[in-house]
Amino acid sequence: MSKGIDEVLEKIERGELSLSRLEKALGNANLAALVRRVYLERKLGVKLSSIASTVLDFVELYGRNIENPIGAVQIPVGIVGPLRVEGEYAKGEYYVPLATTEGALVASVNRGVKAITMSGGARARIVSDYMARAPLFWTPSVEEALRLRRWVEDNFDALKREAESTTRHGKLLTMFPYNAGNLLWLRLQYHTGDAMGMNMATIASEKVCDYIEKNYPGTAKCVTVSGNMCTDKKPAEINKILGRGKHVIAEALVKRDIALRILKAEPRDIHYLNTAKNLLGSAAAGSPSFNAHAANIIAAVFIATGQDVAQVVESSLTLTWTELRGEDLYISVTLPSLEVGTVGGGTRLPTQREALEIMGVAGGGDPPGVNARKLAEIIAATVLAGELNLLAAQAARELGRAHIQYGRGGGTSAKP
Ligand code: NAP
Repeated sequence: MSKGIDEVLEKIERGELSLSRLEKALGNANLAALVRRVYLERKLGVKLSSIASTVLDFVELYGRNIENPIGAVQIPVGIVGPLRVEGEYAKGEYYVPLATTEGALVASVNRGVKAITMSGGARARIVSDYMARAPLFWTPSVEEALRLRRWVEDNFDALKREAESTTRHGKLLTMFPYNAGNLLWLRLQYHTGDAMGMNMATIASEKVCDYIEKNYPGTAKCVTVSGNMCTDKKPAEINKILGRGKHVIAEALVKRDIALRILKAEPRDIHYLNTAKNLLGSAAAGSPSFNAHAANIIAAVFIATGQDVAQVVESSLTLTWTELRGEDLYISVTLPSLEVGTVGGGTRLPTQREALEIMGVAGGGDPPGVNARKLAEIIAATVLAGELNLLAAQAARELGRAHIQYGRGGGTSAKP
């Protein structure tokens, strides 16, 4: 350890330098991470050599992705595929990276992928595409809140101009006003190109709030730019009804012989299970999410590709639907609130960018927005595969067996 670093550590010990000011004091974010790590190692008596081992350059990440960095955690990434997708944006066969520590997940989704690809693939379509931010306004009375509502509706073009002055890619598409008592929410809904769009929509909405406060001829005060009707990182029916991010649907028709050969289950058993478990079971439990394990796939793709992982909450609100078509099984998944981007946030980190490259969706698309939509269609198709396989596994009563094999080290035949 160099003398210089020892001196810095002593300053921290004496309370003359805080851990959060190391970047500024040392002028180098990688050195700051190293000092923070050594400080913790000495203070706590732990070894952080694994956390230290990373490809990340904190000079690149400082001021964008992390504060007080000490290193990185690593999560294994597996792939499923080839998955055939016939979308409007995703057309062809794809390998999809899943980052997880849940043994059996990749194998499980991969079996569904195989059944879907052998059945001709998943068709996928985007129903709507916008990111929402919902400022909340205080007014003195119900009547004033209604006046404000009419005024913002009449002045939508001006609000749109203000919002769009903050961004090249963001477009204010629509506004959903909601009155309760003397308060008014404006759910502002933006197209955000290939970005997931949460920063973009927040910055634009702040400008809208300022404009309303300055120009509304009555009395109105913006309480917050985010009044929870957005709704970000919390379960909310409004996201299911109005959509947030991409409202995307994927469907497939699985022939009975493929269901029997690959999934080891009868279409009618899968269909009954979906109705009893995903629909009635979820309703009885009071769940807002009607699926088997969509969050498993969403979380694994989000971690692999640098999405905002807390948005798994609403992105996994999935409706899984099955029908019997003769002897065959029709299955669809509807994700009304899938929040994904291929630029911005964590998508620029080196491993996450490579994961996006595997699917041919890294960076901005031409025209802007097509890469994020393609990613959304691929994710929906992967969720479809995950739902299909887990339903089949439970219909065939093999769930516990699979987890013993892949989740408790029982899959010895797969080891070298
Ligand atoms: P961002 O990185 O803040 O913004 C995207 C940037 O990429 C913009 O500067 C945009 O330029 C630019 N850009 C270049 N090519 C683009 C293209 N093809 N399509 C769209 N934009 C393009 O990302 P964001 O998606 O808005 O926000 C994501 C971040 O917000 C994540 O880190 C997430 O964790 C965080 N987050 C923030 C909040 C919040 O309340 N602020 C809430 C939840 C999550 P222009 O702006 O000029 O178009």
